[in-house]
Amino acid sequence: MSWAAHDLEPYLFRAKLGGVVSLPLCLAGSYSPDILSKWAVYGLDFSGDAKIVDDPVQLHRGWPGVGFTHSLSFGLLVAALIFLVSRNKSWAFSFLLGAWAHVFSDTLDSVGVMLLFPFSEWHMHLDVWQYVGQAGRRADAIAYYTSLGGVWDVLWAVWLAFHWRMLTSEHFHREIVPRDTFWIWLRSRASDSVMLTLYRASAFFGIASIIGWYVWALFINDFQNSLDWSLGGPQWAPRQGPP
Ligand SMILES: [Zn+2]
Repeated sequence: MSWAAHDLEPYLFRAKLGGVVSLPLCLAGSYSPDILSKWAVYGLDFSGDAKIVDDPVQLHRGWPGVGFTHSLSFGLLVAALIFLVSRNKSWAFSFLLGAWAHVFSDTLDSVGVMLLFPFSEWHMHLDVWQYVGQAGRRADAIAYYTSLGGVWDVLWAVWLAFHWRMLTSEHFHREIVPRDTFWIWLRSRASDSVMLTLYRASAFFGIASIIGWYVWALFINDFQNSLDWSLGGPQWAPRQGPP
């Protein structure tokens, strides 16, 4: 799985594709595949290490399970529903874009996704890093950030850093708000600072996650605190293929 990449990708789509992308809907799409299952993968206690399902990999990415949320058709279906309710093409497209970006990002790990579900349960997995979700949140964080997964997150963060101007208040009011009915609707209900906070929240969360988890993975935990940028790493992690 990817971590902060899911928080950051929508900002870059907005920066590159312009007003056709509604950032809030693209973020919703980007969060949608994991939102129903991540809690069960890691467990419900604060540390995220309490197991509540026997086979988190099967649940998260398999069928039976909620692996269908990581398919192209899931994004398409929800986007179609959004269009039916809102009649807003940009919202539907943005949700689809976010959901598909999440799905393709997750093909980079060793479990991968059922891209073509329900037509096939085949998993597309590129094995760039190891899927370690079944080991609990902390071990997963260490594995992810010391492997090429962390590099993938940093790439998105650096790319966003080159577009820092899009996070300024000036850009938000001039370029973002007038081109998305979501913000126009919100403008009459929320203060400026609430709108700006919402707009920047996922970028802030993504960048803070990367920094925090790297510091923790490399300097604080005493379990496996060295980088392993080998393909399919980290090598200490248990090998985990599709369910
Ligand atoms: Zn995912």
